[in-house]
This record gives sequence, C-alpha cells and structure tokens, in this order.
Amino acid sequence: MLLAGCAPAPPTPSGRVKVVATLGILADWARQVGGERVEVTALLTGNESPHTYEIKPADVKTIADARILFRVGLGLEDWLDAAIENSGNKKLVVVNVADGATGIVAGDAEDKYGNPHIWLDPEYAKAGIENLVKELEKLDPKGESLYRRREAVYFVQLDSLSRAIKAQVATLSDKRFISFHDAWPYFCRRFGLQVVATVEPIPGQEPSAKELARLVDLIRSERIKVITTEPQLSSVLPDMLAKETGVKVVSLNPLESGGGYIAALGTSANALINALR
Ligand SMILES: [Zn+2]
Repeated sequence: MLLAGCAPAPPTPSGRVKVVATLGILADWARQVGGERVEVTALLTGNESPHTYEIKPADVKTIADARILFRVGLGLEDWLDAAIENSGNKKLVVVNVADGATGIVAGDAEDKYGNPHIWLDPEYAKAGIENLVKELEKLDPKGESLYRRREAVYFVQLDSLSRAIKAQVATLSDKRFISFHDAWPYFCRRFGLQVVATVEPIPGQEPSAKELARLVDLIRSERIKVITTEPQLSSVLPDMLAKETGVKVVSLNPLESGGGYIAALGTSANALINALR
C-alpha cells in the first residue's frame, strides 16, 4: 500500500489494454484480435464522415485514458493531432493501419499523403491488424498467444470474404461505376472493379454545374449503369443524376454499421455486384 504512489499504474484496473480507435471498423479489428484482454472505444459512431469529423471534449478524455490509439493514418485523422496534444497522454502509442503500407493511390489536392481509404481492401486490413498486434504484444506480453491465435482465425475469415467477392465479381460483364466520393480505389484494385469518375473528388466540396454536366455526358456515352452513394453523405446529387440519366443509385457503407468489418464490406460488395449485374 505504501508503495502504491510510486509504482506505475497498470493499463486499467481490470488489467485490460485500453485501445481507442478512430473508425468503428478499426475498433472491430481490435476486439477481434484482443478479445477479453482489450477494452476498445471508437471515436466515430459510424454516422459521421471521417474527413470532416469534429473532435469533442469527451474524445480528449478517452484519448487521455488510452494506451493505444489505433487510426488509419495517411492524414485522414488530422483532426486528432490537437486532441492528442491536449490529452497530455505521454504514454500513448499511436498505431496507424497505414504504417509500412506500399502501393498507396494518389489522393486529391487535399490528401497530401495519398488516398486514405486503405481499410476497404482486406489485405491492407490484415497489415493494419498486424501493426496493432505487434504493439499489443509489447504492452501485454502475456497475451501474445491469444492475440496470435485470434489474429489467425480472423485472417482466415478475411481470406474467405475476399475469395467470395472475387468469385462474384468474376461473373460480371460490366465492372464499371461512378462513385460519389473517392472511397473505393483499393477495394476496386483488389477485386477487379473500376471507378470511371467521382462526383465529389474532394470530400465536402460539391461539383460545379459544368462538372455535373460532364458526368451526365459520361454516363450516357459510356453507358454507365451504377452510381454509388454513402449513408454518411447527402444523396441529392446522385439522385439528381439518376433522375436525369436513369443510372441506378446504390448506397455503399465504407464505415461500420454495427455488424463489424466483414459484414459491412460483404454487404457493400453484394449491393454493388447486384446492381452491376
Ligand atoms: Zn472517405
């Protein structure tokens, strides 16, 4: 008891490693590999766009209490920098999904580090999970075998998801679509789909009338059948394009909606593939 003030505090009273993730998908990954040994919080609920998220005072407190901050990186979560500073948490370990990633696709004028949507390719997901597991092992060596076992199980599930999507895409004769914002380049590269244009190349900046007219021409001349939108964004423009050209609007969720990453990606892939069929 006398020494209590001198001894370093354990990660949490329960001994669990506190992980704060930015996206719900990343929180899902942390729970998948960490099981009972981690306590995971996500900053985003899934209804916000991570490009324009505004940090809340409660988020700073969550970061102050965490041992690991798990984020995508590539500048997606620029809004975190001040919060990390303000949290005063000197022991916080920041793990980026993008750490060590190669093959990053060029981004828009505002993405100086490249397009950040790497989590939509299960192979980048595996690399990001591996980054996290390495840090979990360092902070909690006793959990090593559990982390490795759970990671292996999850990777098998990811591989099976990838195989299922690839097999379905292979049956399509037309693999092209227009996406509302540029979230899907890694997903498309992995599975052989093709984005021919983006309605809003810079998130939050609406296209001009001239750019919209160009999209209408493109849909007609190239016979594009599908345009995708996202639940976190307004569908006014996609709906307008649909009315004008007859293109089908499909809602894909690049974020988590409560069922975890595999369910989210599988649902989006199915919706897109069914629309393209
Ligand atoms: Zn995005």
